[in-house]
Amino acid sequence: MAFLELNVLNNPQDPIIGIDLGTTNSLAAIFRDGRPHILRPHQQDSRIPSVIHFPKSGNPIVGRAAREHAYSHPGTNLFSVKRFMGRGLADVKGDLAEVPFPVSETEHGLLQFDIHGKTYTPQELSALILMRVHDVACQQLDGIMPQRVVITVPAYFDDAQRQATRDAAKLAGLDVVRIINEPTAASLAYGLDQKKDGTVAVYDLGGGTFDVSILSIEEGVFRVLATSGDTHLGGDDLDRTLVEVALEELRPQVGELAEDPAFQQGLRLAAEKCKIELSRAPEADFHFVVPERNLTWHKHVSREEFEALVAPLIERTLDACRRAMADAGLHNDAIDEIVLVGGSTRVPAVQRRVEEFFGKKPHTELNPDEVVAMGAAVQGHILAGGTRDILLMDVTPLSLGLETMGGATAKIILRNSPIPCQQTEGFTTYADNQTGVDFHIVQGERELAADCRSLGKMKLSGIPPMPAGMARVMVRFQLDANGVLIVTAKEESTGTQASIEVQPMHGLTDDQVEEMLQASFDHAREDFDASLLANLKTEIGTMVRATAAHMDDARDRLDPETVADLDEAIAAAQRAADGETDVKVVQRARDELERATLPLAALLMDGVAKQALTGKSLDEV
Ligand code: AMP
Repeated sequence: MAFLELNVLNNPQDPIIGIDLGTTNSLAAIFRDGRPHILRPHQQDSRIPSVIHFPKSGNPIVGRAAREHAYSHPGTNLFSVKRFMGRGLADVKGDLAEVPFPVSETEHGLLQFDIHGKTYTPQELSALILMRVHDVACQQLDGIMPQRVVITVPAYFDDAQRQATRDAAKLAGLDVVRIINEPTAASLAYGLDQKKDGTVAVYDLGGGTFDVSILSIEEGVFRVLATSGDTHLGGDDLDRTLVEVALEELRPQVGELAEDPAFQQGLRLAAEKCKIELSRAPEADFHFVVPERNLTWHKHVSREEFEALVAPLIERTLDACRRAMADAGLHNDAIDEIVLVGGSTRVPAVQRRVEEFFGKKPHTELNPDEVVAMGAAVQGHILAGGTRDILLMDVTPLSLGLETMGGATAKIILRNSPIPCQQTEGFTTYADNQTGVDFHIVQGERELAADCRSLGKMKLSGIPPMPAGMARVMVRFQLDANGVLIVTAKEESTGTQASIEVQPMHGLTDDQVEEMLQASFDHAREDFDASLLANLKTEIGTMVRATAAHMDDARDRLDPETVADLDEAIAAAQRAADGETDVKVVQRARDELERATLPLAALLMDGVAKQALTGKSLDEV
């Protein structure tokens, strides 16, 4: 019997889809070519709003189109259905106060919604959402229509809520192979089941809910140790803090209009836009326009200001983390891995506070909106008889890096690094008062950028003028599980940043990868020399400019022989940097220049020391 069951699951022609059936949004993913893929409509947001609109006549509308009716038809537009799954009236009194649609109870004590004289159970409504998600998924699968699904539910769902989810899938004509916990799915997406044992904290801050789960892994099997959270805390509350700021200024101006639902919705969307921008930039424009009222309002909001507004909300999530840790009987340092889920975990202050709380960097490499569906797809793949070996061995076949001054490459993510992965390196400016830096992202093993494959270019501008070498530009390479590389450069003092997204493996065949590797072996010696040459020339440039900057002042204080020696060394180094191709000659010129600058360095050090000692008695030193 067991064998037969396994055999049925094990049909590779019949894959299993993973579905994240969410309170606000739902989405599906499938495991293919060694990794999970989100099934998104062409060039569209992957998520389908978990919203259903019932027009007066005709079929119900599900998803984005339904959401557009939220304000015009509040009584026939259903959302947050997940909150009512498997619950009776008494369980959800608080939630019911917040939804604008009529609800009653069946004779069995189950909830039902009354719409246009007909009743619908939460299961029937969830079935409509599942059908839509399944439809959209199948459109991306070239004619395959897998009926078998893995569906995720919150870790705290009880048996009745899980059964209601199964029933919804059945009504949708789907075969639920397994129901899994959302935090388990998120951990699977990060491959944490590959760890023999450990403890994982999954911090999930979405639009309207917050959940934290503490999981243990034993021999690759997850067990929920504790859960906590707040069913009414999320990104909407972060938006509300900005809305309040705006209303304080706007109320005297707009009077009763401030209570108008369309006005409030517009303001909320403007606040959300500003919040999202602040996850990317150190400041943002909070811009709100009501053309009909001739109203234009805007305010500059800095990230610090926003962080001060939302700090109490973030602290509330940490209180829940504290409770979960106490329930699990663990100290914060017992957590080995932290996984972030939900769009609101993109807020930098959230990431920072979570890191401070657990004392470890959380995983942020995967899209926090998609990670649960991805994990469900991984579980589906395992249940369909697939192995995780491919995922485990998923590595980047070629190094990824940047062209540095002089044309050499700085490899940031080395070939054969397991993905997802990320790496950060610091860079600085080459010239005085340089206010912009050009970044050229390259792929390959060769030492000169010109011999590597060019992936893209971007510019970071807005660096404040300062002497060469003083600016600190941190460049982060983030390679996600889908092989998408995001390069972000950030100037530390101002927070100015730029980023670019590229697909390193796009258009590359295995044979081309092989050729690129072979070329790097064939040219290993000359590449080494070429890179050394490029770096030596850059170094000479920096030394010559630094020396020239101090020579005007120092010339009179150095003896004529030293000055002549230095001038000659500079000229020789410059000549070498300009046209010489022999590494040994350039190396010698660089070393000569270093030697010739020693008296100048001593003189400058002397000056600095004198300045430091001025006005101090010997015994103070
Ligand atoms: P979810 O329920 O996981 O889809 O999360 C939706 C919430 O994430 C909403 O409140 C969004 O405003 C929020 N969100 C999405 N992207 C960002 C971002 N880049 N920065 C801050 N919040 C975001």
